[in-house]
Amino acid sequence: LRQRLAGSQGGLGRGLLSLLSRDRLDEDTWEAIEDVLLTADVGVAPTQELVEKLRTRLRVEGGQTVDARTVLREELIALVDPDMDRRLQVSGADGTPGVVLVVGVNGTGKTTTVGKIARILVAEDRSVVLGAADTFRAAAVEQLATWGERVGVDVVRGPEGTDPASVAFESVKEGIDTKADTVIVDTAGRLQNKAGLMDELGKVKRVIEKQAPVTEVLLVLDATTGQNGMIQARVFSEVVNVTGIVLTKLDGSAKGGIVVAVQRELGVPVKLVGLGEGADDLAPFDAAAFVDALLG
Ligand code: GDP
Repeated sequence: LRQRLAGSQGGLGRGLLSLLSRDRLDEDTWEAIEDVLLTADVGVAPTQELVEKLRTRLRVEGGQTVDARTVLREELIALVDPDMDRRLQVSGADGTPGVVLVVGVNGTGKTTTVGKIARILVAEDRSVVLGAADTFRAAAVEQLATWGERVGVDVVRGPEGTDPASVAFESVKEGIDTKADTVIVDTAGRLQNKAGLMDELGKVKRVIEKQAPVTEVLLVLDATTGQNGMIQARVFSEVVNVTGIVLTKLDGSAKGGIVVAVQRELGVPVKLVGLGEGADDLAPFDAAAFVDALLG
């Protein structure tokens, strides 16, 4: 996984390192450093902050003694916020299962992510039920059913066009009846308008919470979509109380800086990253490991 990350994101780290290793860090160089960061979707404010810190530290500690790589590594890790709690809340209390609601726009990798999370939990000997509440697309339901077979967990589904909330309700009910550890609910991601989305997800959440608290709301974002992804993030966070972000398709994007931008925007940690289409291509996000992969 680390290799795959380094493959796609390495250009960012190498670009910064080579600029910082120049003999003279003049204004042109600092501008070039800013460009590299902005191109990687780090965002304007975090880019300025980072450049300011690098300038100060490399000036103060200056001369040959300071190692640009060490300073860059420390400041990048600080930027990614290593102290955020990134553990998934997959356990319930009082005999109810943990309930993970997975939200995001269609095509971001939501259904795939649900399957991958199920696989990780099953590997940890947890019992899992999946809810196919993306009832507007028959293909999404079929896709989740296939994941269920592959991973060996039950998938609760309804006929096409069923009310998503009723599928969500039934899946949590099955989770309670079968004493499952975790229920993961795949939701519809039609970003038709904010009011519609709010109605739909609000209802899903309400019917679930008649039976058990939602322990985690994961927002799935496609790392390749840049500013568009940031807009989606904003809309969803206004509609539901997002508790964690899954950044997919980092394998196909050189724009790892979005990790920083989206955490800043929502004040919520990136908890998982998607690094490919395969069943094992989902990894917990770790700030230091991420930065080390960048820097190669
Ligand atoms: P949904 O519409 O949001 O449920 O998205 P899907 O789960 O159907 O995924 C859309 C496409 O993205 C599929 O072809 C997935 O295989 C692909 N995909 C999902 N996650 C990743 C990832 O981390 N990396 C790559 N390269 N592809 C991914």
